[in-house]
Amino acid sequence: MAIHIREEANRCLNCKKPMCKAACPVETPIPEIIQLFKENRTLEAGEMLFENNPMSVICAMVCNHEAQCFGHCVLGRKGTPVQFYDIEKYISDTYLDRMVVSPKEKNGKNVAVIGSGPAGMTGAIVLARNGYDVTIFEERCYIGGMLYYGIPEFRLPKSILHRYQDQMVKMGIHIRPNTTISDALNIETLFRDGYSAVMACTGVWRPKTLGIVGESLPNVHFGISYLTNPSAFQLGENVAIIGMGNVAMDVARTALRHGARQVTMYARGKHIAASSEEVQYAQLDGAETVFGKMIDHITPEGPVFKTSIFDENDKVIGYEEELEAVKADATIIAVSQGPKDRLLLTTEGLKKAENGMLQVDENFMTTVPGVFAAGDVVTGSYTVVSAVRQAKIAAEGIMKYLSSENV
Ligand SMILES: Cc1cc2nc3c(=O)[nH]c(=O)nc-3n(C[C@H](O)[C@H](O)[C@H](O)COP(=O)(O)OP(=O)(O)OC[C@H]3O[C@@H](n4cnc5c(N)ncnc54)[C@H](O)[C@@H]3O)c2cc1C
Ligand code: SF4
Repeated sequence: MAIHIREEANRCLNCKKPMCKAACPVETPIPEIIQLFKENRTLEAGEMLFENNPMSVICAMVCNHEAQCFGHCVLGRKGTPVQFYDIEKYISDTYLDRMVVSPKEKNGKNVAVIGSGPAGMTGAIVLARNGYDVTIFEERCYIGGMLYYGIPEFRLPKSILHRYQDQMVKMGIHIRPNTTISDALNIETLFRDGYSAVMACTGVWRPKTLGIVGESLPNVHFGISYLTNPSAFQLGENVAIIGMGNVAMDVARTALRHGARQVTMYARGKHIAASSEEVQYAQLDGAETVFGKMIDHITPEGPVFKTSIFDENDKVIGYEEELEAVKADATIIAVSQGPKDRLLLTTEGLKKAENGMLQVDENFMTTVPGVFAAGDVVTGSYTVVSAVRQAKIAAEGIMKYLSSENV
C-alpha cells in the first residue's frame, strides 16, 4: 500500500486552484498535504489534516469521494484522478495514535455536548483545543453515533472509535456514557449545573415508517434497529429489504454476512438514493435489486407489492391494480430516519424548522440562547463530512457567544 500511495502522491500536479479542495465540504488542503507527505513529513501532514477535520481518518474511509475530491481532480478530465482518500487514510491512521495531546489550560468555561456522533466529537475536540472544559453526554455505551452503531464493521472498524475515545480523554474531554439528556437530566439541568453553553448533536434515530399494514409483525424490522446489533436478529435465509438508499445497502451487505442467502432490495422507482459505489459493492456481495415495486402491505410470509407504471422519463405515474406477494423469512424497512424530538419536548423555547429538524441561525444557535446544534439533527439524515462542517461552525459560534459581553 505504501508504494501505491507514494505513486498516487507523485501524480498530483499541485494545482494552484485545486478543484479537489474546492469540492470538499471542509476544504481539505489537499495539495499542501500531498507535498508534506512527499517530503516524508507525515506527522505534519496528519496534524494539518486533523486541525482542519478532526474526523479525517473516518472521512477518508466513508465519504462519497466520487462526488467530492476524487470526482473533481483535474486529472480525471483526461485520465485517472488522484486517489487522495487513500493517501489521507494512510496519513491520518498513522497520526491518530501518535498525535501529541495533553489537556489545554482551561479558560474556566464549561460546555456540554449532547451526543457523540461525528458532530459531537468534532465540536468537543474543537472546543477542548480552545481551552473549554467539555463534557459529552452520550445515550449509548460507546462513542461514535452512527459511525459505531450504523455503519457496519466491514466498512469502518469500531476499533477506530475506541482509539478516538482514548485521544479525546487525553485531551481532557469528559465522557458520560449511557446518559440521555431529556430523561433524568435535561438542558435546563445542564445550565443549572454551570455549563455556559450546550451543543446538541443528537442525530436522527427514529426509523421512518411506511404507514402500511404489517410493520409491527414479528419478522419485520427497521434497518437502523438491525444495524445497531445484527447478531441479536434471526432473519432466516431469505430477506426482503424495502428501500434502496445507502442504509439499505449496509443492511443487505450485513445480512449476507450474518447467514442470509437470498437478499433482495426493492425500490418504487428507477432512480435510487444510494451511491453507485455502494450499489456495486452490495451487488458484488450477492444482493439483488428489483425496481418498480411499490410496497402495499407486509404479511408473515413476506412483502406484497404493486407494480409501478413509468412515463417516458422513467417517472412513476401510477401503479397497476394487481398485487404481487413475495416470499421472505424477514422484511426489513430501510427508508431513512427522522429525529426523536425528545429535546424539543423537554426544552422550553426550542423550535423546529420547516424541514422538521432543529431550527438554527447562521452560527448554528437554536431558538434558545446558548443552545447550539449541528449534524443530522439540523439537516436530517445526511453525511459525516457535513456533520463535521456544521460542528466546526457551531463550535466557533459557541466561542463567539461565550466571549460576548452579555454572557
Ligand atoms: C447505516 C448508515 C450508513 C451510513 N453511511 C455513511 C457513509 O458511508 N458516509 C457518510 O458520510 N455518511 C454515512 N451515514 C450518515 C452519517 O453516519 C450521519 O450523517 C452522521 O453520523 C451524523 O452525525 P451526527 O453526529 O449528527 O449524528 P449521529 O452519528 O447520529 O450521532 C448522534 C449521537 O447522539 C446520541 N444521542 C441522541 N439523542 C441523545 C440524547 N437525548 N442524549 C444523549 N445522547 C443522545 C446518539 O446515541 C448518537 O451517539 C450513514 C448513516 C447510516 C445510518
Ligand atoms: S486536483 Fe488533482 S492534481 Fe490538482 S491538486 Fe488536487 S489532487 Fe492534485
